[in-house]
Amino acid sequence: MSRARVLLLNPALGPLDYRVPRGMDVAPGSIVVAPLGPRQLTGVVWEAESLPSAGEVGDNRLRNLVGVHDAPPLPAPLRRLIEWTAAYYLAPPAAVLRMALASASALEGGRSITEYRATGRTPERTTPQRAQALERIGERQGLVRELAAIGGVSDAVIRGLVKAGAIEPVEVALDSPYPVPDPNHAPPVLAEAQAAVAADLAAAVDAAAFQPILLDGVTGSGKTEVYFEAIAAALRAGRQTLVLLPEIALTEPFLRRFEARFGVAPVAWHSDLRQSQRRRAWRAIASGEAKVVVGARSALFLPYPALGLIVVDEAHETSFKQEEGVPYHARDVAVMRAMLEGIPVVLASATPAIETLHQVEIGRYRVLHLPARYGGADMPDIAALDLVADPPERGRWLAPALVAALAETLERGEQALLFLNRRGYAPLTLCRACGHRFQCPNCTAWMVEHRLVRRLQCHHCGHLMTPPTACPECKAEDSLVACGPGVERIADEVTALFPEARTAIVTSDTIWSPARAAEFVARMEAGAIDIVVGTQLITKGYHFPELTLVGVVDADLGLQGGDLRAAERSFQQIAQVAGRAGRGEKPGRVLVQTFDPEAPVIRALVTGDADGFYAAETAARRDAGAPPFGRFAAIVVSSEKAEAAVETARLIGRAAPRVDGMQVYGPAPAPLAMLRGRHRQRLLVHARRALPVQEVIRDWLGALDWPASVRVAVDVDPYSF
Ligand code: ADP
Ligand code: ZN
Repeated sequence: MSRARVLLLNPALGPLDYRVPRGMDVAPGSIVVAPLGPRQLTGVVWEAESLPSAGEVGDNRLRNLVGVHDAPPLPAPLRRLIEWTAAYYLAPPAAVLRMALASASALEGGRSITEYRATGRTPERTTPQRAQALERIGERQGLVRELAAIGGVSDAVIRGLVKAGAIEPVEVALDSPYPVPDPNHAPPVLAEAQAAVAADLAAAVDAAAFQPILLDGVTGSGKTEVYFEAIAAALRAGRQTLVLLPEIALTEPFLRRFEARFGVAPVAWHSDLRQSQRRRAWRAIASGEAKVVVGARSALFLPYPALGLIVVDEAHETSFKQEEGVPYHARDVAVMRAMLEGIPVVLASATPAIETLHQVEIGRYRVLHLPARYGGADMPDIAALDLVADPPERGRWLAPALVAALAETLERGEQALLFLNRRGYAPLTLCRACGHRFQCPNCTAWMVEHRLVRRLQCHHCGHLMTPPTACPECKAEDSLVACGPGVERIADEVTALFPEARTAIVTSDTIWSPARAAEFVARMEAGAIDIVVGTQLITKGYHFPELTLVGVVDADLGLQGGDLRAAERSFQQIAQVAGRAGRGEKPGRVLVQTFDPEAPVIRALVTGDADGFYAAETAARRDAGAPPFGRFAAIVVSSEKAEAAVETARLIGRAAPRVDGMQVYGPAPAPLAMLRGRHRQRLLVHARRALPVQEVIRDWLGALDWPASVRVAVDVDPYSF
């Protein structure tokens, strides 16, 4: 090649052409360094025919490439995935490329990285930061890979701990190998139904052809156990596996299970990794030496050279939808990557998304069922508690029947879980004297009281306030009241009712790292917790045999959003949290508090008629032309100035093209009309499934201009509509 088209890691730039100096060896996929003005940027050489140039430049005016990174070229299927993702989600290709190169930080720096390990000596002076760092560095000493969890610890704290002799640095070569998982380390004895599904999955891996498979099995049926056998097949074939998990807190129990099955932990990829860990993992992935990678959605874009299998666990989870940056849905991109790689992709869930079930119905996806819990455990018994007929005492949130069930559970020495999807103490604080409500100055949102840390916090922008003693409006003293419950308030109520019980609050405030999750799991398993009060964080993946009672504090909460997905989401959430009960030998019981026991969602949960519920929901979606039968795209216009946002949104609305099978609603204030100080207007595009809505939007917006202070973001397949 004497001339190369390069996609630079700058989303504002299109692809640029460069001259390849004599003696430099580059091909499509090569990761190169190119000059841009006075600077040098990392980029990737691209096939000229698949990326139109930003403007042709004559050969004689081309600048020379500066160098080639010492890293394998990006594989062709990944380059196609980057193009597809950019086109489908209307994002700059360079913004997607950034995810593949982990912002290029994966390529920079020396040949070795510094890790730390605990020496076992306790420092004389312990600060909360030091304690936290030591906790993250882990109790298991001497295992360098365990230190993956110390992201987020400042260098100053690390230096202090080294000086105090509590930890010591260890040099690890960047290319020092990760141990390879052994498919024969500890194979399970599978139940009959499990063995059949496992054999099916292994055959799909061996066939090495694109095949999307829904692994549909009730909670506790052994889905993980079964897809581990597909991973074993990939290992035997010398191929890589990517397992996507929805939540970082889930990785620790997963790592332990994986280690028990395969002898070593897989390579983890998530935002909590230290930069150095990220570099080492990236290199091991790109060289093909990391055989099994478990990660958050961003792991989808890494340069696996020999991918043989993708697993999306808890595939219905909403957190697979990325809202910031490139707004992609990791489940959908995973299927696309599998198609481009020519490999199977397994979507595992006990409560599959309506979109996924529809793909099964029309014959595009295969489905494999695990109909029963492993080891003969029964599904828990779900009952509704009518809050009208049997209300909680004044000022309390737990109905008498739930309180009685808690008492029985404690008496038997078993564990209980109370689920409420609301962090903090109370969602709203107001002044009894004048009615003043505490609102976030940057967002259309109430400030949420967090009593444990004595703060009011905005859950959208993180804005913090110290709760005042007097009302800022009317100056009345001691007039502020907390309205409604959050998990902290429920935990208070539990403590008031059962002073002896040991309670734990599980939210992203208390479980913010894999190490914290591991600690929580250990305490649960040791029986050191009687009652857990938690948000949706607790609904996923955990397996506690002694947990026999689940109480859903407010089953109506999820239905309030009013969007078309509310019922589905509510059903999934409650079914998942119910699935935590009675997973061992003891039977489980689920009590669901509601003001409307006859609501279809509640009826479906109580009668166990998931199929009927899904059928009704699917019919409603069909009638509304909603996904998967039609599609939406949201155009969100935001600005620090309200008028600028409104004006640009109107401009876009007036320019809306008339296209058969497409309708444009709005502009109207977006669901969060103000977010992080920006005023937001939204237009909602609703189109027939077959309509190439991306092209229409690209042409439509491409012909318009707006002030630089206005941001226009398109969200294709938005989560709420
Ligand atoms: P799911 O992912 O469907 O919720 P899991 O794979 O977590 O189910 O299995 C639930 C529990 O049952 C886990 O503790 C798992 O170790 C155990 N289990 C499932 N299948 C087997 C098996 N064949 N042998 C031993 N334990 C099993
Ligand atoms: Zn805010």
